Amino acid sequence: MSTSQPAETLDAVIVGAGLAGLYMLHKLRALGLSARVFEAGSGIGGTWFWNRYPGARVDIESVQYSYAFDEKLQDEWRWSERYATQAELLRYVDHVADRFDLRRDIVLNTRVESAHYDEARDEYAVRTSRGDALRARFFIMAVGCLSSTNTPKFPGLESFRGAKYHTGNWPQTPPDFTGKRVAVIGTGSSAIQSIPLIAEQAAHLTVFQRTPNYSVPAHNGPMPREVEERVRANYAAFRAEAAQRGFGADFRDNPATAFSVSDAEREAEYEARWAYGGLGFLGAYADLMFDAKANETAAEFLRSKIRSIVKDPATAELLCPKTPVGCKRLCVDTGYYATYNRPNVTLVSVKDAPIERITLNGLVTGGREYEVDCIVFATGFDAMTGSLVRVDIRGRGGRSLREKWEAGPTTYLGVATEGFPNYFMITGPGSPSVLSNMLPSIEHHVNWIARCIDDLRKRGAKRIDARKDAEDAWVVHVNEVAHTSLYPNCNSWYLGSNVPGKPRVFMPYLGVPPYRAKCEEVRRNGYEGFAIT
Ligand code: FAD
Ligand code: NAP
Repeated sequence: MSTSQPAETLDAVIVGAGLAGLYMLHKLRALGLSARVFEAGSGIGGTWFWNRYPGARVDIESVQYSYAFDEKLQDEWRWSERYATQAELLRYVDHVADRFDLRRDIVLNTRVESAHYDEARDEYAVRTSRGDALRARFFIMAVGCLSSTNTPKFPGLESFRGAKYHTGNWPQTPPDFTGKRVAVIGTGSSAIQSIPLIAEQAAHLTVFQRTPNYSVPAHNGPMPREVEERVRANYAAFRAEAAQRGFGADFRDNPATAFSVSDAEREAEYEARWAYGGLGFLGAYADLMFDAKANETAAEFLRSKIRSIVKDPATAELLCPKTPVGCKRLCVDTGYYATYNRPNVTLVSVKDAPIERITLNGLVTGGREYEVDCIVFATGFDAMTGSLVRVDIRGRGGRSLREKWEAGPTTYLGVATEGFPNYFMITGPGSPSVLSNMLPSIEHHVNWIARCIDDLRKRGAKRIDARKDAEDAWVVHVNEVAHTSLYPNCNSWYLGSNVPGKPRVFMPYLGVPPYRAKCEEVRRNGYEGFAIT
């Protein structure tokens, strides 16, 4: 659009066409509002569009990680595996977009660059990378918690003559590693899923590990029809029950504490959960994330599994994490530890000898050069805030969000931030987001935001803004809750510690049920903590 034309005015601009942006569009349309989604990528799906690395799939069973908002959609979709692959998830996203005719309001290949609040008109002036200039009453960031990739600034990065890949921005045409010497940097969830498959293809794989991670087997396979039918028979009740759990997912949570049973019973419980597979391992005891000694029993069980799988004792020891289990996200794998028994796989610890530089032919650590043909950066994301502060968002008085959050993000309920009226974030910092089954959390936020917008309309109100005192109290509360747990006890991206210079602030809110109760209470009390004009 040329800048000389009057800017088009919409009720809402939504940024991001992942699972959050798509559902937000659907909800706003249902209210009769005009909305448009802008997406930087060339396709929809967000996480499931970008993360095409080998082995990418969910770590929460698909019967739980799926939209619940439409019963017919729920009824007609069948998952082929217990944990859907990235490709199947993308098919699901495409199906949803077509089924609800969403594509006509989605603009691809377009990054939203700025959104400035115009106080006189109670609108945001939005600009995109393609030169669009729009105005919108509501500006909604559905940019995802894990969408801004983090590539450490290793000296010499550009000098490498081989191919470089980031798991979070994987090429649409899969690279062929056959006959290649491959380096993988990182051992988080993305690495742990991709390493076994890269190892099968590559001539040699060298994994550069800074911090080892705990992983439990997925025991993935075709979706057991009897499981699916059992869930489907009472789907609404199943989802409602899951929403009562701390993580918002059914992990067969055991209310008992770890030391309320004998050592033998505890081992048997861990064995059973290991055999079942998945994140439900941490549902074994209610105090695993709150009591260091209880946590250590689970951690030691997992270390003993690593030692029993990995044949070389020195490699096994390097793979054994020393931190509490769960305080970095527990990984879910298929054959990860056993991959280190392959003759073509080497593990190099860069904990004490960080990667010094990238060279023409490879990378240097501990004074030694490792020559490789390709480097896979499985180095994660500038999580939770990265994609939010990349956009130049300005609120009342021209205040910049980036500057407001210099010392760390501050929000009210993770959906709003004081001084930025009519601005909403889906799964923003200060909400359960990444400490939950994210799809139900996305739906919860979208429903709450849509209801709020509708309520404002019914009241004839034009502006909603979080109050400073409410935001301050929420930030304190988020921190207090986090510090009752073991989550802040290790360096994780929940704390921003994976990105040099990022303020160390625990960003997600711990506990889905109290969070949802609070959101409902705020709404019932006429949006308590917000100023409505
Ligand atoms: P995203 O899917 O991240 O979509 C955001 C979109 O916004 C992106 O497409 C991005 O390109 C776009 N965008 C960002 N900034 C701009 C801009 N300025 N202009 C235009 N577009 C922009 N969660 C779970 O609960 N269970 C899982 O098993 C699970 N597995 C995961 C596996 C991987 C590999 C990753 C990376 C994350 C996983 N997650 C999982 C978290 C996952 O991100 C969420 O479950 C969910 O997909 C997020 O959806 P979203 O729409 O909020 O964000
Ligand atoms: P991640 O968990 O942040 O892991 C990044 C890895 O790169 C870590 O091992 C990190 O080491 C390492 N690293 C970063 N900078 C480094 C440096 N300068 N030198 C050496 N190593 C460095 O990222 P991710 O694996 O992409 O996962 C992010 C999140 O996405 C997950 O926690 C999960 O929520 C989600 N996810 C889920 C799945 C799934 O199973 N469904 C799959 C992938 C991702 P340190 O630990 O020392 O920082």
